[in-house]
Formats: sequence, C-alpha cells, structure tokens
Amino acid sequence: AKKRGRNNYQFYDEVLDKKEFERLEIENELRKAMDKEEFSLHYQPIIDLTNNNMTGVEALIRWNHPTLGLVPPSKFIPIAEEIGLIVPIGEWVLRNACKQIKHWENLGFEDLTLSVNLSIRQFYQVNLISMIKRIIDETKINPAQLTVEITESMTMDVESATIILHDLKDLGLTISIDDFGTGYSSLNYLKTFPIDYLKIDQSFIRDMTKSKSDENIATTILLMAHNLGLKAIAEGVETNEQLQVLKTHNCHKAQGYLFSKPLPAEDITQIINQLN
Ligand code: C2E
Ligand code: CA
Ligand code: CA
Ligand code: CA
Repeated sequence: AKKRGRNNYQFYDEVLDKKEFERLEIENELRKAMDKEEFSLHYQPIIDLTNNNMTGVEALIRWNHPTLGLVPPSKFIPIAEEIGLIVPIGEWVLRNACKQIKHWENLGFEDLTLSVNLSIRQFYQVNLISMIKRIIDETKINPAQLTVEITESMTMDVESATIILHDLKDLGLTISIDDFGTGYSSLNYLKTFPIDYLKIDQSFIRDMTKSKSDENIATTILLMAHNLGLKAIAEGVETNEQLQVLKTHNCHKAQGYLFSKPLPAEDITQIINQLN
C-alpha cells in the first residue's frame, strides 16, 4: 500500500495495472543491467551524399535481457532518464563507442566519425565536460571524430546551453541537433549556438515523397541550414525517391535503412575490411 496523504491509503495490490507493473519491472532490471553486461551497442552507417561513402556511424544502445528479451531504447531510455541511471549508462556508451572507433582507426579507417546521443540529464550533468575529456584521453581518439547529438528541448535554457555547447566545441567536438523540426526551436538561437549539423527528423523524411507539406518542411530545413552555414543530415531514409529529393536539395549526409540498419560492431568491422 502506498500512502497518499494523511489517513488516506490506496491499495495498489489490485489496482496495480499491467503498465505500471511493466514499468517497475523494467526499472528494477535496468538497475542491474550494467553490472550484468546486458547492454551492447549497434552502429548505423552515416553516408556522405557528395561521394556516397560511409563517413561515420551513430552509436545506438541495445538492451538484451534474459527474460524480457530485446527491450527497445524507446522503452527504457525515458525510464533511465527519470531515475538518473542515464548518466552512468551514457558514460558507458561513450567509453565503449570511443574504444570501438579507435579499433576501427587501427584497422585503417582513420577519419570515421562517431555520433553519440546525449540525454538531457547528461547534458546538464555538472561534470559532463570532464567526463568526456577523460574518455577522450583514455581512448586516445581524435576529438574531431566525435559528434554529440542533442535535441532542441535541451536548448530551452538558452544561457546554460550556450555555455555547455561552447565547452563542447572547445573540446573539439561536433554538435548536431537531433530530431530537428519536432521540438522547440528558435531560429534566432540556431544562429548564435555553435551548432554544426541539423538532423532532419525521420517523420519528415518518411512522408516527403507522399505529402507536399512534408517535402516542403524537409526542403525548407535544408535551405535554412544552408543559409545559416550549417550542414544537414537526413535520418530515416528508406527509399531511393527520398534520397533523390535530398540530393537535389544538397543535403550533406544521410542515414537510414536504404543504406543500412544499425549493425553490431563486427558487421561494421567487416565493411571496413572489405573497403581496405
Ligand atoms: P534517434 O537518436 O533519433 O535514433 C534514430 C532511430 O531511428 C534509431 O532507433 C534507429 O534504429 C532508427 N532508424 C534508423 N534508420 C531508420 C529508418 O530508415 N527507418 C526507421 N523507421 N527507423 C530508422 P533506436 O535505435 O530504436 O533508438 C531510438 C531512440 O533511442 C534514439 O532515437 C535515441 O533517442 C534513443 N537512444 C538510442 N541509443 C541511445 C543512447 O546511447 N543514449 C541516449 N541518450 N539515447 C539513445
Ligand atoms: Ca540520434
Ligand atoms: Ca533522431
Ligand atoms: Ca528520435
């Protein structure tokens, strides 16, 4: 039973619905997942549209639980964020992805870039900069190879975000705004934040060859990126038609099932070995 104010008990035993139970279960298992080494990383190739080469990869976390199975990030990242576990998880992701990039560099792919997603909790974590710096030093990667992906909602606190973004730039990192177009964004701050890439959200790409308004949004973001001196990445590119429209509007990079799903590290290693 959970106490709800004075003399007001609510008995959850019968009320505890399926959804709440599932959430609690995920939360409990999540707390043990790191020690049990249940996390892994997949890497999705990012393609440079000027030469059709793989230019980088985005690291995407996977959680394989012995009984829950493969739990999608959309289900556990928000919970990890809520209970603060995203901070150690995010550090784990960054360290492992950087080690992997170093490994691929040693195989001969020297300028492969790595994109890592930062959650809002990590972005505003006090030791974010020292944590990233430590991992760069430990893994000896070139900071120019590392891109952090943040979302528009993280820049709502303009003053703090400006400081953090400049600190990240000072480390030598590249900054990309993920899911661009779906959240809060002020065109004014786009101009003043030290941002390198706008990543056009996959919802606009999905429908761009079906609906004129979605095509307009995607192409307007591209135009705006060009006018602001930013580069653009399209995510969720699944068809050749979409690719053609993006190329016509000079989109710099793209990512999506048309090129490749997110892959385990060994598969990327194989691609790299075939390139050599
Ligand atoms: P995101 O950063 O926007 O990542 C893109 C998502 O789209 C990935 O889903 C990817 O597998 C999927 N995707 C890629 N290409 C296509 C395509 O052509 N079509 C479709 N329909 N989907 C495509 P995933 O891996 O399930 O990740 C979902 C979200 O979870 C990510 O969205 C990101 O917000 C979050 N996430 C994943 N890994 C991490 C992480 O290490 N840290 C944090 N903070 N968040 C993560
Ligand atoms: Ca992302
Ligand atoms: Ca995205
Ligand atoms: Ca997303």
